[in-house]
Amino acid sequence: MNSESSLRYLRSGKAKDIFELDEETLLMVFTDRISAYDVMLADKIPLKGIVMCELSAYCFERCEDMGIPTHFLSLQGRRRMVVKRLEIVPVEVIVRNYVYGSYWSRLLRGEVKLPNGARPLLAERLPEPIVEFTTKFEAHDRPITVDEVLDRGWASGSELDRIVEWSLKMNEIMGRDAERGGLILADFKLEFGRLRGDLLLADEAETPDVCRLWDAKGYAPGRPQQDFDKQIVRDYLAERLGWPEKGPPPGSRLEQPLLPEEVVNATKLRYIEAYERLTGRRFEPLDEAT
Ligand code: C5P
Repeated sequence: MNSESSLRYLRSGKAKDIFELDEETLLMVFTDRISAYDVMLADKIPLKGIVMCELSAYCFERCEDMGIPTHFLSLQGRRRMVVKRLEIVPVEVIVRNYVYGSYWSRLLRGEVKLPNGARPLLAERLPEPIVEFTTKFEAHDRPITVDEVLDRGWASGSELDRIVEWSLKMNEIMGRDAERGGLILADFKLEFGRLRGDLLLADEAETPDVCRLWDAKGYAPGRPQQDFDKQIVRDYLAERLGWPEKGPPPGSRLEQPLLPEEVVNATKLRYIEAYERLTGRRFEPLDEAT
């Protein structure tokens, strides 16, 4: 197994660190970092990185089987993934099955128009999934139109067609997983890249860090839904510390841990439960240094 200290560090996302293996391959390390209310906490959720890495691998393998090429090459241990180095398409793809999140905010501001047949209700199911694009390399994610993507040369028309086709196919695959596990896949984000002209699925997929998941049992439209993975953390921060109003501004990174052990442990179990409910597989207990 590689020790990251001997590798060239490239960059970090919210929960992943990226290193260079060689000119053609990268190592993605899935850490136990967690954010809530858009604030990066100093607390770590043990095993979270392993759950995210193994869920992504599970998803990528099935994508390949279904004709969607991905950047996944292999796993090294349980939280390290070797991937092909791509030229990233500078556009994030969001697929929505429900009226929620930033889509709901834009609806309230009159910036989007609901499709026919949908009620203007929080957490209402959409008659058809909606595919949206947002900027990837700007300070703040900004919704963009197909025309802007084309005008800026961020992707070609044929690439966008394929991106939409694959994203909707993934919505079906992951939606079925969620349904079988008693979960609702409200929405999710995907990223794509190019390798020698070919389009591939990049980043991570089917993890609670990029999917909004709800427990089907507690679902009811017209009110905010419980966030399957982070609700315990969010409730603690809201009830004990008055977040988000009295919390740090969005985008902050905290230095000091603030979650009690029982909140950390319960959240760890939530991530394991998400893995088991989405994959239908048992989460293998820890059997090696990770
Ligand atoms: O906040 P919003 O409703 O636009 O998020 C839609 C979906 O995209 C959510 O599942 C969220 O987890 C995901 N997302 C993401 N990374 C971002 C923005 C959104 O994974 N930078």
